Amino acid sequence: MSAEDVRADLDLDALNAEFEHRRALDIVDWAVSTFDGRIAVSSSFGADSAVMLHLCTRVRPDIPVITVDTGFLFPETVAFRDRLAEQLGLNLKIFRPRMDRAAFLAEHGKMWRVNPDACCAFNKREPFDRAKRELGLHAWFTGIRREQSRTRKNAPIIEKGFDGLIKVCPIATWTAKDVHYYLQENGLPYHPLRAQGFLSIGCQPEEDYCTKRVEPGQDPRAGRWAGFDKTECGLHTYGDGSGI
Ligand code: SF4
Repeated sequence: MSAEDVRADLDLDALNAEFEHRRALDIVDWAVSTFDGRIAVSSSFGADSAVMLHLCTRVRPDIPVITVDTGFLFPETVAFRDRLAEQLGLNLKIFRPRMDRAAFLAEHGKMWRVNPDACCAFNKREPFDRAKRELGLHAWFTGIRREQSRTRKNAPIIEKGFDGLIKVCPIATWTAKDVHYYLQENGLPYHPLRAQGFLSIGCQPEEDYCTKRVEPGQDPRAGRWAGFDKTECGLHTYGDGSGI
């Protein structure tokens, strides 16, 4: 049976009901077996990204790890990415926007100030969509968790996107405590900026734009695009506009 047939035959409702009670590692194992060679893990190398990278490489050490380097990342993120790549032996696939930072600034200026959706579409979504196409994926893993924000609170563990790809979120049900214990038990680091109050870490094209520290008690993603009604870059929405 081809991978296309596998996707067509999946009963997502039944799988979601079953996966609510399964260990994350079992879900990763199921997905890697089901989408044999056609699945990757996406990582922003954010605050607790080490969890998903560790879970996925436990099952398949050479699983492709897609990450987008927008050109506006914190230097600490780039260093964290390189450190984890070495520690876990990651099969890293770095994708970049079609314009580098200097060319983008020359043509579009500080687009994040006026139209962050368009900026994310150019610098994040296009490279990510290109990655999925070029790698011939039928499915991908992501580490989103329901408690991270209002736009993620109903995230299913498995769903089909408008692009036909299956998105698998093995740790959707995890709490911040679950993440903490997993990292501790496995000798894995948080992103170094987490200790400074950055609980969700994306770009920082200039100070206090796109990523800010959050106050105690706020959603982890409250510091993203502060001042805009936006908490998602678009990688986790499927064209209906919700949460973008
Ligand atoms: S997070 Fe900010 S700088 Fe990065 S792509 Fe989105 S709007 Fe642009």
